[in-house]
Formats: sequence, structure tokens, C-alpha cells
Amino acid sequence: MERSIIVTGASRGIGRSIALKAAEKGYQVCVNYKGAADKAEAVVREIEAAGGTAIAVQADMTKEADILRMFDTVDKELAPLGALVNNAGIVDKGSKVENMNLERLERMFATNITGPFLCAREAVKRLSTTHGGKGGVIVNISSVAAKTGAPNEYVDYAASKGAIDAMTLGLAKEVAAEGIRVNAVRPGIIYTDIHASGGEPDRVERFKSMVPMLRGGQPEEIADAVLWLLSERSSYVTGSLIDVSGGR
Ligand code: NAP
Repeated sequence: MERSIIVTGASRGIGRSIALKAAEKGYQVCVNYKGAADKAEAVVREIEAAGGTAIAVQADMTKEADILRMFDTVDKELAPLGALVNNAGIVDKGSKVENMNLERLERMFATNITGPFLCAREAVKRLSTTHGGKGGVIVNISSVAAKTGAPNEYVDYAASKGAIDAMTLGLAKEVAAEGIRVNAVRPGIIYTDIHASGGEPDRVERFKSMVPMLRGGQPEEIADAVLWLLSERSSYVTGSLIDVSGGR
């Protein structure tokens, strides 16, 4: 049976890698993005060139109407939903908590917490056997920052990922008997553009000596863990937080 998957924030970085690998495994993919239509379309073309099916759907994770439209579009244009990867996320400039303003905190929590909650809600409505669905999988992309707290950099970001960990644990138990598995992957420091977006393009180089494996990770190494969680090979795994962080 064909199933579709929504990968939020799939225009680049970890989300892009998850989208490509999910397509290889036979999922029809919704490549969500916020602003980078050209990059999202490029991911779609890459999937199609390899014989897969994908659509790019713009939706800002801070806007409920956008999220509803995204799920609606998938309902209409792709196979029945089988999985959601809550991947879209942001950091901000390095700052101490004492200097964080309301606008920053609201943007951080809306993008990294509220958006994933709303997406999870919409996915559960479609996947739950209680609602006539066929079950499915939700994978949340958290961060090892949830355990380090990211002091002097972005405690707000770390706290948002702590919320995602708690959501993963609670939702997993809530829907375990409804055919839905919910897990999280917690990446360590990975080579993507997220660091430049926080004003520090060389962040991986600066941090890698603190990683036990003495290197940053690649997006594909995160995607491989996600793909395992999406697959039947993890059929008895739910409510798990899996660190993919080189030992950090
Ligand atoms: P990235 O390269 O900065 O990519 C972020 C993606 O999220 C882009 O596709 C972007 O879309 C999308 N996005 C941002 N805000 C959005 C919004 N409001 N609505 C919809 N999409 C939005 O990030 P990444 O490094 O791949 O990170 C992916 C996930 O891994 C995040 O949750 C991040 O917190 C987590 N993570 C990353 C690292 C790391 O070291 N890279 C470590 C731990 C955890 P546009 O391109 O359209 O703006």
C-alpha cells in the first residue's frame, strides 16, 4: 500500500536528507518549506528523477492556517498519510537569557514547539485507528541541546527541544494503542546551514573537539536514524529519544 510522509523544513539540511531517503523507501513525500521555494522544488525534482513522487508545499510552522492547508493538500494530492517528521526548527543569535526579548522567545517557541504540536495533532487525526486510520509513525527532531541546556548560546532553543522530548514521551503513550509510534532523534552538532542562520557559520568547527568522536555529523547520519524509526525494523520502539551525536 502506498503511503505519504510529511517532512517539515525539507528544503535543506537534515529535512532534505530525510525527504530523499524516505522517497527511496517508497514514501510519497511532502517537502515542506517556509520561504525557499526554489530549494524545495529542487528536492522534489531530485526525488522525481530517481523515480519517486513528491510535492513541495509552502507552510509556515508558526501559522495554524498554513499547517491545515498543508495537511489538506497532502490529503488531496498524495497517497494516505503514513508518517510525519517534525523537523523544521530554528536557532537564534547566541545570547544569555537575560538579554532575550519577547519577540525572540515567541518566534522560537512558535516554530519549535507549537508548530510540531499542531502537526502532530493533524497527523494523529489521520493515522489513529480510533479515527479509522491505519496507524503510522511520528518522528520528532529534537536536539542534544535538550540535555546540555545550551548555556550562553540559546537556552530558549534548548528549552524548546526539551518540550519536544516531553511531547514525544507523552504522545507516544497516548497513541500507542492506536497504531501510532512516536519517537525523537536528538542530533548533536551537524553540518547544515542552521549555524549560519544563528550568525555562526563555523560553529561545527568550533565545537567538534568537544564531541567524543571529534567530528561533526552529516545530515545523512541523522536521516538514517529517522528512517529506521519510520521502518518496521523499529516496530516495538515508541517513546524513545535516540541521540545521534557522536557520543556527546
Ligand atoms: P536548517 O538547515 O536551518 O533548515 C531548516 C529548515 O526548516 C529549512 O527547510 C527551513 O525552510 C525550515 N523552516 C524554518 N522555519 C520554518 C517555519 N517557520 N516553517 C516551516 N519551515 C521552516 O536546519 P537543520 O540543521 O537541517 O535542522 C533541522 C532540525 O534539526 C531542526 O529542528 C534543528 O533544531 C535540529 N537540529 C539541528 C542540529 C544541527 O547541528 N544542524 C543539531 C540538533 C538539532 P526554508 O529554507 O524555506 O526557510
